[in-house]
Amino acid sequence: MTYLAEPLCRCGNEPWIHRGMLRTTATSGRFRCPETLHCLHGTTVEDGRIADHWRNVPGECPWIGTKVTDRPRCACGRGPWIKLRHLRLFTRKHLTGPVVSLSCPGLCPGPRVAVHDHHICDHPRDNDTRCPWSGTRIAPVGIAPPLFVSGPRSD
Ligand SMILES: [Zn+2]
Ligand SMILES: [Zn+2]
Ligand SMILES: [Zn+2]
Repeated sequence: MTYLAEPLCRCGNEPWIHRGMLRTTATSGRFRCPETLHCLHGTTVEDGRIADHWRNVPGECPWIGTKVTDRPRCACGRGPWIKLRHLRLFTRKHLTGPVVSLSCPGLCPGPRVAVHDHHICDHPRDNDTRCPWSGTRIAPVGIAPPLFVSGPRSD
């Protein structure tokens, strides 16, 4: 039996999601941004990251630059994780405590999804599909960039 060393895994260094988590748009090759409310034209994935994309309001999209892998598990077998900075629509316990529910970044319709111990709880995407955001860890780091404020990038 040959032993193939796994590449050194960097899954904990920066947030990442996988392609299956992004909803596709009617236009082929495009995805809906998790912040679809302000990113009406969707986005693309370039070089394994969410590309810069059009917004309907001034202010940076927190998803631009986020790493997107092809596989749902990293080399060491872990699942995806994001930062609080990615999210705008969520509820915290006692206003400043851990996140207890959120509007699913996978754009699941219906009520907010529960979050338990910093992980998005299992929930259905539709009648027979588990939402691929189920189990995603939310690191309690950062706050979303402000809306209606022009960011440092001027181009
Ligand atoms: Zn966006
Ligand atoms: Zn890993
Ligand atoms: Zn969902």
